[in-house]
Amino acid sequence: MNSKTPVILWFRRDLRLADHPALLAAVATGRPLLPVFVLDETGPEQRPPGGAARWWLHESLSALAAALAGRGSRLLLRRGEATDVLCRMAAECGAAEVYCSRGYAGGAPAQEQAVAAALERQGCRLRRFAGGLLYEPERILTGQGRPYRVFTPFWRACLAQPAPPRPEPAPGRLAAPASWPAGEALSDWALQPRAPDWAGGLREAWRPGEAGAMARLQAFLDADLAGYAEGRDRPDRPATAMLSAPLSFGEISPRQVSYAVRARELTTGGGEAFLRQLGWRDFSQHLAFHWPTLPTQPWQPAYRAFPWRRDPAALRRWQRGQTGYPLVDAGMRQLWRTGWMHNRVRMVTASFLVKHLLLDWRLGEAWFWDTLVDADAANNAAGWQWVAGSGADASPWFRIFNPVAQARKFDPAGGYIRRWLPELAALPDRYLPAPWEAPADTLRAAAVTLGESYPAPMVEHAMARRRALEAHAAMRAAAGEAG
Ligand code: FAD
Repeated sequence: MNSKTPVILWFRRDLRLADHPALLAAVATGRPLLPVFVLDETGPEQRPPGGAARWWLHESLSALAAALAGRGSRLLLRRGEATDVLCRMAAECGAAEVYCSRGYAGGAPAQEQAVAAALERQGCRLRRFAGGLLYEPERILTGQGRPYRVFTPFWRACLAQPAPPRPEPAPGRLAAPASWPAGEALSDWALQPRAPDWAGGLREAWRPGEAGAMARLQAFLDADLAGYAEGRDRPDRPATAMLSAPLSFGEISPRQVSYAVRARELTTGGGEAFLRQLGWRDFSQHLAFHWPTLPTQPWQPAYRAFPWRRDPAALRRWQRGQTGYPLVDAGMRQLWRTGWMHNRVRMVTASFLVKHLLLDWRLGEAWFWDTLVDADAANNAAGWQWVAGSGADASPWFRIFNPVAQARKFDPAGGYIRRWLPELAALPDRYLPAPWEAPADTLRAAAVTLGESYPAPMVEHAMARRRALEAHAAMRAAAGEAG
């Protein structure tokens, strides 16, 4: 191997140049760099990104390609099974090493193993680097050497560790190979919707790419961090960081976010509360790493016996934001339009699907997978299993969110509901979360006709609550009998 032999840098969910350990290590070899992104939708255990995430991926790859070009390099694009693509590329350009960032959830760890084994067979080595989490999953274990199942002790164990390494700046000029292998055109991947182009709301709401992520972080630090602890549950306010998609695509590292927050503030409680949420992100990834079936199977085996209903029409009403419960519908419409939903409302809409409608959490997980720009195998599954009661450290099943009470508490002046349900905007605040409680003349004055301009509630709360508790009791009985 001479100094002209290139190193392949395999980009995955780490679409940035700053604080990128694999990139820095590749640069430190002094050899030419061949950056590549592989669109692998067919490899074993690979779950193709959903529609909203495909839109984001297109934009993010385009930003990364421009950033690499600015450093004298390029981003090669290839489609196919990662093992085939990388083996072929290594053979074409005589590379002896491929560097990448580790993945922790979904098919990522299995993909790395397959790639490493295939490369090794042709005398090439895969080197994996950290960078996507604050703490590596092998480092945070209980006294018995097992993964944590409960968040609070997990996070305590994380905080007892030495602080994660300081984020590194992006390297300068990148050494290019003497000749570039052929790549594909991003536009040929058809990641963006065309007919119809439904991405208008996404374009308005987001600026994908590393520069956009840094700008979002700065805006959050300046405007909202200090009030985060108190404001984070309010969907009517711009109080959270809205960094989940940049973090999920690796346009920004959790270390960059964590260091910036620590440098700015830990005094009002906003900083601590925010870092704890980053801790939940690590926790979800750890769970998915140690229990790879998290996205597809109930983490608590008893829930395999849950008597879910089958009701495609009800699922459709939930997806479309037509349940008749304004907070649920506002959330589902925010999701459809912008590819994002506030965390409090994710909990309420998810709870409505699994507990009010008794539909399997995996149906909701799949819808979120398709519509969220931040869709993430670990966070999405952990979020759904938390709500469904089947996850690790989950909310107990009997905690059934009342969508009306949740709206009164967290959207007290109705700003969130009015924004996403303009057809209810003229209702007085007190009736906004429950229009069916309004007197006929109030509805008339607000131009609301239940069942026409806005649906009547598709299920009655008290009945749904009772039914949910009975279903849970039936599951317990079935699981007990099976066990
Ligand atoms: P902030 O409140 O500003 O938090 C900062 C960061 O911490 C977030 O960007 C995110 O990376 C992390 N974080 C915050 N809350 C959580 C949490 N509960 N679990 C894990 N990480 C968290 N998050 C995703 O990134 N992708 C998903 O696919 C996803 N699906 C979810 C599904 C359900 C049913 C639920 C209840 C939650 C889901 N979440 C998911 C978690 C959470 O809702 C989002 O991370 C958060 O709303 C993103 O907004 P933010 O960046 O403004 O968050």
